[in-house]
Amino acid sequence: MTECEICGATIVGKAQFITIGSSQLRVCRACARYGTSVSESQPAKARTQLGGFTSEQEQLARAKQRLYEQMDHELAEELEIPEDFGRRIKEARERVGLKQAELAQRINEKESLLRKIEHEEIMPTDEVRAKLERVLKISL
Ligand SMILES: [Zn+2]
Repeated sequence: MTECEICGATIVGKAQFITIGSSQLRVCRACARYGTSVSESQPAKARTQLGGFTSEQEQLARAKQRLYEQMDHELAEELEIPEDFGRRIKEARERVGLKQAELAQRINEKESLLRKIEHEEIMPTDEVRAKLERVLKISL
C-alpha cells in the first residue's frame, strides 16, 4: 500500500513525486498539482545542507504547513474543522482541568500528537476528533 504524503489517501496506480521547497513528497494524482513534479527515478533524499538547522522531518512538516495554508480553504471545508480548532481544544481542555498528558491518556493518544493538534500543526483525524469531542464535550 502506498499512501499520499499529503492527504493520506491510498495511491491508486502510479504515485506522483513532487517537490515543495526542499522536500520531496510522494503524493496522489490529486495532490500532485500542489508542487513541482519530479522524475520518479530520483530517489527522495534527506537534505541536511542547512547545517542541522532543521531536520528533514521538520522541513517536511513546514512544507506541509505551507501547503495546508495554500489549500486551507479547500481543506477546512472538506474536514469541516474550524480554523481555530487548536485553541478550542486547548480552552475546552483547560475548562475541564486536564493537562495535555492527562487528556492524551483519556483519548489513548500520544501527548506529542495532542500538542501538535493544539498548536494546529496537524489536523486531528476523524477518530481523534471524535474522541476529543466526546471527552471535552465540545463540537469542533
Ligand atoms: Zn493526496
